Amino acid sequence: MTQYDYDLFVIGAGSGGVRASRIAAGHGARVAIAEEFRVGGTCVIRGCVPKKLLVYASQFADDLSHAADYGWTIDGARFDWPTLRDAVARDVDRLNAAYTRTLETNRVAQFLDRAEITGPNSVQLKSSGQTITAGAILVATGAWPVMPDFPGAEHCITSNEVFHLESLPQRVVIAGAGYIALEFAGIFNALGSAVTVVNRSDTILRSYDIDLRERLLAITRARGITYRFDASFDRIDRQPDGSLVLHPNDGQVPVTADVVLVATGRRAKTEGLGLERVGIELGLRGEIPVDGEGRTACPSIFAVGDVTDRVQLTPVAIREGHAFADGQFGGRRTAVSYEAIPSAVFSQPPLAAVGMTEAEAREKIGDVRVFTSDFRPMKNIFSERIERGYYKLVVDAATDRVLGIHMIGPDAPEILQAAAIAVKAGLTKADFDATVALHPSMAEELVLMR
Ligand SMILES: Cc1cc2nc3c(=O)[nH]c(=O)nc-3n(C[C@H](O)[C@H](O)[C@H](O)COP(=O)(O)OP(=O)(O)OC[C@H]3O[C@@H](n4cnc5c(N)ncnc54)[C@H](O)[C@@H]3O)c2cc1C
Repeated sequence: MTQYDYDLFVIGAGSGGVRASRIAAGHGARVAIAEEFRVGGTCVIRGCVPKKLLVYASQFADDLSHAADYGWTIDGARFDWPTLRDAVARDVDRLNAAYTRTLETNRVAQFLDRAEITGPNSVQLKSSGQTITAGAILVATGAWPVMPDFPGAEHCITSNEVFHLESLPQRVVIAGAGYIALEFAGIFNALGSAVTVVNRSDTILRSYDIDLRERLLAITRARGITYRFDASFDRIDRQPDGSLVLHPNDGQVPVTADVVLVATGRRAKTEGLGLERVGIELGLRGEIPVDGEGRTACPSIFAVGDVTDRVQLTPVAIREGHAFADGQFGGRRTAVSYEAIPSAVFSQPPLAAVGMTEAEAREKIGDVRVFTSDFRPMKNIFSERIERGYYKLVVDAATDRVLGIHMIGPDAPEILQAAAIAVKAGLTKADFDATVALHPSMAEELVLMR
């Protein structure tokens, strides 16, 4: 008889938690998992997947507007939000069922309940009151949107609610200028809503290369998105007709909207988790501090994914969960590498990047060479819209190694995933130059920059 009910108890069935459970069970561990909302977590239920489906839906607007240039006549094209919303919800249900099946197939016991830590080896389920013991506990509770405290905040929504709107809003205000804010700005703008982005500073997408940010700003402004920079609002009032009036503190006229989406950041989800009972103190950003193997200050408790606030992306949470399970239950210690992690913003147009920005490379390396291509994507050739793509390679002058790739333009994320292999592998600019172009494509610009 073993001392504990399970070898591993995972709190949170999102990207990191599901992967860790499945791999640990595959190594022969007795595993249980608790989920307080829906199995699948943020990415599947209210993040990457439903968002990308909305992006696809909204891109039809652009394709339809180009269609006539290519000889197509499309009469009576109309968009219906409830049809899209319900189709997305059905796909979320499908994925939720698929993740649940994966856990079942791998014999992971599931508790659809909130779990809280009661000791180094015990958790309590909130609804049932049941106490469960485990040799190790993995916290994979993710992150949660931050809602600032100001009068009228209760009228705002976050990315959690945006997928369930009853109708397509005519006027949307989006607070924030990170990737989630700009992705939804692009979606609503393309679907026909009037979009205003309000941001405290005048910087969008802080971690991306400045040239990409400026290009995105110029294009999205031309597409009709309004930006109010260095502004926030003091209060929001709901009018008798249901509309919302935002009173900005930048001295400008109030803004009226049907929906106010607050996307100003996400914070590690640790509230009420009981971490103080086991001596785990939170970091400055509210995250659970961990070492390279996900170990917290309490030796039997580990954490992976967004709750550790290292890199808040699904593939990273998955890798961390996998490495944890291999290390603790498979006798295989694997360090997760945080270098050259590719990322994208599914704005319209999208942008994608891997490695160092030009500014970072100049600061860290000093002597760098920069190659750029500023081109008109072929698909836009017939169009009156003058939207240019822009690619940048940042190269270490001493070693010729490509340190970073930065792209904005159609399909940039699809192209960058393959190019990221070259950066991760440490290939040189000469390797890029030696590669024959694939013509005609946008991706060929990557090997034609001189
Ligand atoms: C709108 C949006 C778009 C995004 N787009 C992308 C993208 O394009 N690409 C990308 O890589 N990433 C994207 N992300 C980020 C990505 O979703 C996260 O990085 C990823 O889901 C993190 O996985 P995780 O396992 O750490 O946490 P999560 O997936 O958030 O899972 C945590 C789970 O724990 C549960 N939980 C929390 N507390 C408890 C408790 N006490 N008891 C039981 N269960 C609990 C939660 O309900 C949740 O299901 C997006 C996020 C959002 C919000």
